[in-house]
Amino acid sequence: MSEVRVENLSKSYGSACALDAVSLRFPDGGFFGLLGPSGSGKTTLLRAIAGFVEPDAGQVLICDRPVVDVPVEAREIGMVFQNYALFPNMSVSENVAFGLRVRRVPTVEAKARVAEVLELVQLGPLGDRRPHELSGGQRQRVAMARAIVTRPSVLLLDEPLSALDKALRVDMQIELKRIQREVGITTIFVTHDQEEALTLSDRIGILKGGRLIREGRPEEVYSDPGDVFTARFLGEANVLEGRAVDGALELAGGTRVARPADGATMIAVRPEHLSVSRDRPEIASALRADLRQRIFAGAMGTCVLHWEGQQLKAVARHEEFADLPESGPVWISWCDRHARGLRAE
Ligand code: ADP
Ligand code: MG
Repeated sequence: MSEVRVENLSKSYGSACALDAVSLRFPDGGFFGLLGPSGSGKTTLLRAIAGFVEPDAGQVLICDRPVVDVPVEAREIGMVFQNYALFPNMSVSENVAFGLRVRRVPTVEAKARVAEVLELVQLGPLGDRRPHELSGGQRQRVAMARAIVTRPSVLLLDEPLSALDKALRVDMQIELKRIQREVGITTIFVTHDQEEALTLSDRIGILKGGRLIREGRPEEVYSDPGDVFTARFLGEANVLEGRAVDGALELAGGTRVARPADGATMIAVRPEHLSVSRDRPEIASALRADLRQRIFAGAMGTCVLHWEGQQLKAVARHEEFADLPESGPVWISWCDRHARGLRAE
């Protein structure tokens, strides 16, 4: 068991609040994606878990054991940072063995463990190379190997892939997930790339200004974001505001649509749920919009629309898309169940 929990964790730097009473559970053996804009406190949270940052208030628990007074070395945590500095004058094997040497693991055992972990990250034959003789992706693997060779109970990854180019990054995402599954280690992964977080994580958390504003399974948070910030941050969302009239929601222009069950007066409709048609659909709440741009992209196409001074986006399958005019007036509509109520945040 190596569940990690933080409870009411707060940290300020002068007047800047980096973490504001964050409480969060990172399940044992799970892959948790931590997301948020730059400066939202992601790194501070990881560093507080690792022990590099002393919180002003709150607690960090690893396997139910409070650790804020436990030094970094004793927390059994492996870390990979964005700028995973490898020792340039050491070989790959020596880099990986470093943590074992510090822990005085006997040489024979250390050798076996380094070989095993290099195999795991698929660098078996490259143990004698120096970091400068490796590609970016290979260096990333060495950093991973170095973080897990000590068999930590928790792995903290702070934007480990952000230095890699797109194609390599996607390869490494798959690789990272495979390694994490094989080792079964509780992993907290920080990224500012929402797609990356959605792809890799069992659960995600969203930080904004040091506060945790949402936590849940990726599908759950995507389909029901709950607040405007999350809706816009995680994927694209058409956010429509109205006013409550007779149990319905009256949008700009006077069209009434179903009001969400939670009573919200703001709704999010994902582009893939916004239907665009040349002819008026048989739905009373269809809206008249102006198609400004049609962007063909193979199986799916994107429509950029204007409605009541607001830009909206729709993504449509090829057949639906091909039937639309190049531009001009069209109808837009959605199923009530796809309009999710939002808090202002
Ligand atoms: P993120 O990783 O999400 O970009 P950080 O945790 O690095 O965010 O930073 C959160 C906030 O705390 C930012 O406003 C940042 O400027 C501030 N901060 C972080 N570390 C320090 C530090 N060592 N000294 C002063 N301010 C810091
Ligand atoms: Mg950071």
